[in-house]
Amino acid sequence: MAKVYEKSPAFFDTFERKPSMQKTTHYCPGCGHGTLNKIIADQLTELGLQDKAIFVGPVGCGVFIYYYFESAAVSAAHGRASAVATGVSRANPDGVTISYQGDGDLAAIGTSNAIHAANRGENMIVFFVNNNTYGMTGGQLAPTTLIDQTSTTSPTGRTVKNDGYPLRMAEMMAGLEAPTLVARVGVNSPRNVRQAIKVIKKGLEIQRDKKGYVFIEVLSQCPTNWKKDTKEACEWIDDVVSKQYPFGVFKDMTDERDAVERRCERVEFSAIAKQLGLEADDSSSDAQIDMDKDATQFKFAGFGGQGVLSLGMMMAQLSMQHNMEVTWLPSYGPEMRGGVANSSVVVSKNTIGSPVVELPDVLVALNRPSLEKFGPLVPEGGMIIYNSSLIDQVPADLKGSVFALPATELATEAGTAKAANVVVLGFIARKAAMFKLADLEAFLTETFKKPALVETNIKALRAGWEVAENL
Ligand code: SF4
Repeated sequence: MAKVYEKSPAFFDTFERKPSMQKTTHYCPGCGHGTLNKIIADQLTELGLQDKAIFVGPVGCGVFIYYYFESAAVSAAHGRASAVATGVSRANPDGVTISYQGDGDLAAIGTSNAIHAANRGENMIVFFVNNNTYGMTGGQLAPTTLIDQTSTTSPTGRTVKNDGYPLRMAEMMAGLEAPTLVARVGVNSPRNVRQAIKVIKKGLEIQRDKKGYVFIEVLSQCPTNWKKDTKEACEWIDDVVSKQYPFGVFKDMTDERDAVERRCERVEFSAIAKQLGLEADDSSSDAQIDMDKDATQFKFAGFGGQGVLSLGMMMAQLSMQHNMEVTWLPSYGPEMRGGVANSSVVVSKNTIGSPVVELPDVLVALNRPSLEKFGPLVPEGGMIIYNSSLIDQVPADLKGSVFALPATELATEAGTAKAANVVVLGFIARKAAMFKLADLEAFLTETFKKPALVETNIKALRAGWEVAENL
């Protein structure tokens, strides 16, 4: 095991969230999340579970957990981590499923998800980081905020009359029959960290042995939103917070419980399609996509607001209309803050194994960060279409065929810069010989409905289509 002052081998060597922060996390100085991450990482290593661990990340200050642990990871929508973890656990019975959630995520938005996962006794360990506040969004009142504690949404302090009592989640979970281990620990002092290590190790052992549900509430300091320095924040947990939320093990059924095995069968997609009456009828197929390979992978990327998600959606819907299998996977939220939103689309004549596009056959980059980020991933033989209205520098290391399409300019001429994505659609459709112009026009007419919008978008479409002939 890594010594207490050494980086755990369960962490990535470098954290790739930001090029300027490859050695540090995004947590504020003095925050308890870092200590908790370190304890989990050390115990995964000690128990040899790193390669079995599958993290389910929340929305909140723990959102970037996948940048730190060198294990499998999934991000859940706000409050849904315990529900997503249920699916992860059931589909991977030999894995160790770890749901990592904060106050707002687990005790407010996702309370029902969390309680029902606990009540079913799912094989998962849930870390509930309780710092009495919505941390990431700036310190709003949470269900765990103390009576009289001020927050940005309770500037004169929480009152029972207005906000009810602080929720004691660990005690609530311990009241359920199914959980195997329920405890509350702290990461604010060496003594509490030592106890936390013991409890977390036990919780992970329970997961290793498939003995059911573990809930570990972690009292964690948030110096930033509490407006205290780190020392004061750590002391405040012992002096005040732990009076409302006492430390302890509230339930431990480890010795009484047997391993919980649940049925997990691999299901063929074709069997589901058959059940749903969705079997492909080859005789009526009029697919116009001429693809030599099994599947074509598209990546549409740009700033939020440039229509890259809807461009991906249009490509997916059109392909679907032509009897192709499709997936559409948007990426936004925290990623958007870095300047790039994108959607991944896979189009295939056969069942698609994964919606993830790592090496796109076709990249559309509507802004420069997108071209720099995804351009080098397009292999030789692939196609890179970039918006030359907004991008004046092209990376030197591109392997695919590069097309400079003045999408914003052409869209503006058609009536609105917002139709740049439709210019691109026309361009790709012709360049890749995917759809007929008449089909595209019918699709836009159906999609936009209002005559003025239809007219503008069809103009934009034709502009992209015409340029594709000569570029
Ligand atoms: S806002 Fe609070 S909980 Fe979030 S990273 Fe900063 S100190 Fe930690």
